[in-house]
Amino acid sequence: MKPGATDENVEHVIGLVRDYGLKEHVIHGTDRTVVACLGDKRMVDKSAIENAPMVERIVPILAPYKMASLEVRKEKTVIEIGPNRFGVGGTKVGIIAGPCAVENREQLLKTARAVKEAGCIGLRGGAYKPRTSPYSFQGLGEEGLKILAEARAETGLAIVTEVIGLEQVDMVAQYADVLQIGARNMQHYPLLEAVGKTKKPVLLKRGMSAQLNEFLLAAEYIINAGNSQVILCERGIRTFERYVRNTLPLAVVAELHDKTHLPVIVDPSHGTGHAHLVPAASAASVAAGADGLLIECHLDPEHAASDGAQSITPDALVKLMGRLGRIAKAIDRDL
Ligand code: PEP
Ligand code: MN
Repeated sequence: MKPGATDENVEHVIGLVRDYGLKEHVIHGTDRTVVACLGDKRMVDKSAIENAPMVERIVPILAPYKMASLEVRKEKTVIEIGPNRFGVGGTKVGIIAGPCAVENREQLLKTARAVKEAGCIGLRGGAYKPRTSPYSFQGLGEEGLKILAEARAETGLAIVTEVIGLEQVDMVAQYADVLQIGARNMQHYPLLEAVGKTKKPVLLKRGMSAQLNEFLLAAEYIINAGNSQVILCERGIRTFERYVRNTLPLAVVAELHDKTHLPVIVDPSHGTGHAHLVPAASAASVAAGADGLLIECHLDPEHAASDGAQSITPDALVKLMGRLGRIAKAIDRDL
């Protein structure tokens, strides 16, 4: 309560607290009265109480998300992906690499072999691309999914591919091992619920302007729909900075590990936008405690249909894997 709140003001707030099904515990300080509200009512629209006379502010104690929080589950969630059930969230740091988009069969199969050879656990590649411009390459659609499935059959890599529309969820889930929800769709709630109704692990990217709470609440939608296999992916946020495509905030890795049991991975490709920055951003992500990385890798970045500037070559990937292995070892993990 604000200084000078009367008994009547406090009684009024207590009445509201009870109306919302909570119990009050009033603390009288030297110049302030605090009304603690007991009970788990995340549904309460706290602004209703905040507007009552002489209320200074409401300080939430419980996180707004529940299923994603450490309150309900103390131990880290390990999510098994692909035919070989690679665990994401355990001691192993799982690297997923591949092109931004599936462009053709030969490109994808060659890349898949290189990605496998480099020691990665997953192959990424978009068959449906959420492009900023309607005139850009939009992806091969179901044909791309078939090529991805062929690459899995040959290599055993887990297939990570994006689903951008509600109507595609079932079809993409038939081919993919991990359903990617892109940054642009992090707050597409019906889509979150739809992937939450599948049995496939979901790789949820942070929206480019989403706050941490909003990111975790998006994960909460998926979990509440029945699917607790959510991998969080930091992919950089939009800031005033121009020398990078996005600004990659790595403190979020540690902060998320403090708040959630879900695995946290980083996308250093969208996170920087430049291939020459990807190795350093990858190394820093692993050092910061990321459970994995999602890296764009292209056989011929100069001719890539999308995101060539931020795609590293298979040779660079091999070199990077060696470096990441040494960093993982230094923090008692492995690749
Ligand atoms: C992608 O992974 O290619 C992609 C479109 O990423 P984001 O949703 O993070 O922009
Ligand atoms: Mn991309």
